[in-house]
Amino acid sequence: METVAPFKEVVLEIKEAGGGAFRHCFQCGLCDAVCPWNRVRQFSIRKIIRQATFGLTEIDGEDIWRCTTCGRCPQHCPRGVKQIEVGVSLRRVASNYEVFPASVRSARTARASLISEGNPLQFERKKRADWAKDLSVKTFTEGMEVLYFVGCYLSYDPRMKKTATATANILKKAGVDFGILGTKENCCGESIRKTGSEEVFRSLAKENIKTFIDNGVKKILVSSPHCYHTFKNEYPEFMVNFEVIHISQYLLELINKGRLKLTKEYDKKVTYHDPCYMGRHNGIYDEPRDVLKKIAGLELVEMADSRKESLCCGGGGGRIWMDTPKSERFSDLRLKQANEIGAQVLVTACPYCITNFEESRLNLEYGDVIEVKDITEIVNDVF
Ligand code: SF4
Repeated sequence: METVAPFKEVVLEIKEAGGGAFRHCFQCGLCDAVCPWNRVRQFSIRKIIRQATFGLTEIDGEDIWRCTTCGRCPQHCPRGVKQIEVGVSLRRVASNYEVFPASVRSARTARASLISEGNPLQFERKKRADWAKDLSVKTFTEGMEVLYFVGCYLSYDPRMKKTATATANILKKAGVDFGILGTKENCCGESIRKTGSEEVFRSLAKENIKTFIDNGVKKILVSSPHCYHTFKNEYPEFMVNFEVIHISQYLLELINKGRLKLTKEYDKKVTYHDPCYMGRHNGIYDEPRDVLKKIAGLELVEMADSRKESLCCGGGGGRIWMDTPKSERFSDLRLKQANEIGAQVLVTACPYCITNFEESRLNLEYGDVIEVKDITEIVNDVF
């Protein structure tokens, strides 16, 4: 039987989230035309907005969980409808009723792990800094140049630990006085918020903010665009403002100031994938490309959908924890685009993108054809 949340509750949630902008929708369908889901299966965000207007959204189906919050529809909507906010508010209603389709259950496991261990990957909190054990990375103390906020995937995931190591090597090479919070670092909370678990987000954010203040943190360096987005645009809801910089921006700064010298060649054809939370959500398109252009021998080529039209990897909005059938993975389409232009390396700057691309690379049998790298892993190879 379909579960339909009471009209009043849905309307109140959405109103709070989008300031009533959903009522401006005139059903033009432009959102559906640009939505990446329609490249792999039928899905209509327009229909969800329509149903939500009347408080009639079915909250027990798969559809309210599909949005990856990639940001393409709000970018094209002529009426300023806040589709992401509407979608997240519907997930909050579903969470309140505890109605979750099977594909979302692993996101519930991630949620439980966030509450108990501060990470979504079911690893122990006490092991958060184990990746740095042999790298002589310092613990952050007040007065250091920058706090390196490592994030969950780079702290624990075996593939992403390589990125954390490359980052630490680069910072040391450039003489940056940096430190990490180790076991005191919590997930930034960005993605769990997008699954409707607002209270978990608020608790993680408050703990992080307290730790930043207690430790005299002023400037935060991040590897994940999701950490970047929430620190920069969502933590100010708690009346704080920290200086936040993404590693791709910091790399350019270090190179331009002469602190990091790239001396070796990288003779490969490389294409750059814009993560949604760096590009569309935060306008960072040029810095990573400028870093790559400074590497001798590297040939930078663009894929069919790049910069503000970038094709989502499928990992945002908490989808990184949900089950997506093989035939519906956006990351497979992206790998094919990279392969079509003859790229030997698909480089990006987001742990979710890398996780999804690595899986697609193996599924598509591109293992020997194309490498997937974080931008730091390329820079780490050329000094
Ligand atoms: Fe409605 Fe905007 Fe989608 Fe058009 S693009 S259907 S106005 S939400």
